[in-house]
Amino acid sequence: MQLKTIAENVACIRERIARAAQRSGRAPERITLVAVTKYVSAEIVRPLVAAGCLELGESRPQQLWEKAAALADLPIRWHMIGHLQRNKVRRTLPLVTMIQSVDSPRLLAAIDEEASGKGPIPVLLEVNVSGESAKHGFSPDEIEPLLAELPNYANVSVRGLMCMAALEGGPERARRDFAALRQLRENLRPSCPPGVTLDELSMGMSGDFEAAIEEGATIVRVGSALFEGVDY
Ligand SMILES: *Cc1c(COP(=O)(O)O)cnc(C)c1O
Repeated sequence: MQLKTIAENVACIRERIARAAQRSGRAPERITLVAVTKYVSAEIVRPLVAAGCLELGESRPQQLWEKAAALADLPIRWHMIGHLQRNKVRRTLPLVTMIQSVDSPRLLAAIDEEASGKGPIPVLLEVNVSGESAKHGFSPDEIEPLLAELPNYANVSVRGLMCMAALEGGPERARRDFAALRQLRENLRPSCPPGVTLDELSMGMSGDFEAAIEEGATIVRVGSALFEGVDY
């Protein structure tokens, strides 16, 4: 296989995002690329940032802390995208732009408490649309009652929903999961308390981000495709 640079991979992914956005009648700049850095060391993240990727995601809090410290000289906006234990909220909160993986009322409450006096922290509610038992996330029918509780959490700003597609079932199953998340959002809109719009849909990874965009994703989380064929 011909060797690639990270910058070439970034350009290729951005091009594919732009084409998928156009197919779905949206402006490419309305889709946020969150580059997932969990596979690489902090030093490999530097060329990614140099290639213009400033929104970065980590799925493990500890790795996010370590990379945020090692790369503190760069204007990175970190997204927490994996399961966050409540005892790790305090250390994670000051480092992140958004927590995409709020998967329980207790975590929401812990973030709210910790964010007190620091301004509302943007979060997404993770939904287990595929129903796989190994997955974190709310079941779809838990979201509506939770929305009614949101006014009690003044320090979190719920911006939308996040999901991972089913591991099994291939691209068609993934597309169905993405469509299900968007449909859930449409169904929930009338139940949103004032100020909550659920505009963001974070869905789609290396293997399926174009389908996700066609189904309404506003945020895609791409990891392995950024590093494919790169010799480092
Ligand atoms: C690893 C990961 C991704 C990126 O997956 P790739 O298939 O490598 O693009 C996206 N979202 C979450 C939550 C992840 O853990």
